[in-house]
Amino acid sequence: MDASIASLDFPVPEAPAPGSVTAIAPGVRWLRLALPFALDHVNIYLIADGEGEAVLDTGIADEPTRAVWETLLSGGLRPTRLILTHFHPDHIGLANWLVGRCGINVSMPLTEYLFAQHLTHNREALGSPTHHDFYTRNGLPETEAALLMGRGHHYLRMTTGLPPMFRRLRAGETLRLAERSLQVFTGGGHAPEQAMLWDRGGSLFFAADQVLAKISPNISVWPQEPDADPLGLYLESLAALRAAIPADVLVLPAHNLPFRGLHERLGQLADHHQARCDAVARACAEAPRTVYELIAFMFHRKLDAHQTGFAFGEAMAHVNYMVTRGDLVMVPGDVRRFRLA
Ligand SMILES: [Zn+2]
Repeated sequence: MDASIASLDFPVPEAPAPGSVTAIAPGVRWLRLALPFALDHVNIYLIADGEGEAVLDTGIADEPTRAVWETLLSGGLRPTRLILTHFHPDHIGLANWLVGRCGINVSMPLTEYLFAQHLTHNREALGSPTHHDFYTRNGLPETEAALLMGRGHHYLRMTTGLPPMFRRLRAGETLRLAERSLQVFTGGGHAPEQAMLWDRGGSLFFAADQVLAKISPNISVWPQEPDADPLGLYLESLAALRAAIPADVLVLPAHNLPFRGLHERLGQLADHHQARCDAVARACAEAPRTVYELIAFMFHRKLDAHQTGFAFGEAMAHVNYMVTRGDLVMVPGDVRRFRLA
């Protein structure tokens, strides 16, 4: 355990085995699904809702995940509705399939719905020449840029798409299940409008990927929106959660273990990004740097091609955050470099 998570309290020391379900709070069951990549797993929550349970996220669209759902359904699981937190494939992967299989509706934030639909139905936009230029102009070598260009299509292979109808989840509204009221929060940074749910009565906070105990959620700039400031949005969201939600809730995240210590963790995540900004500032004080060059100053371990893609997006998020606030200035040229303001 690293020092930063030593201060958090993990009431359940071990997760359920992949594919199995355990009670985590009154009327809430926790299902763990395996993921076939480094992230390893995703947590799904089943929330009592009258005669059945609301399902929070689905796992990716692969045969082992589908088989888990089939086993649960034949074992008596009765989904009443599907709530989706954000468009990433480990969260919405089996949405269309589960909706068709169970005859239920989807509730999710509008931007998450539209972004998933954009990726699914606008396939020619994936890997467009402008995306390639975005990578190479920020210093990424040609071979790595070419690798990243294929990522969007990888996304499509991990999802079954979304149904043609959905119910919009809006920040501030109260989502009423039969047994409880959940206040909807949304936050940017990791995804455009990620949904989180606060159960005030049960003192639970379904945090999706926005607040995780052991890892920092990926905060990246993507080629669709090269000037985006996802880190600014993320830090705003962390501050809003701190102001609204009590420190003693049980946090039920989409990865890692449930924990107590929300405010502590919000502070740690903000500090982590500040430390990364400090590293960028030091590097750019020595010499103008490309986003690609900055990766080595922010990540002190060897990265494979897949990790380099995420690291590039993260580095760019810190650069854009600092440019937006006037801390960095771009040096014009064929390849963009940044210097300290
Ligand atoms: Zn995610």
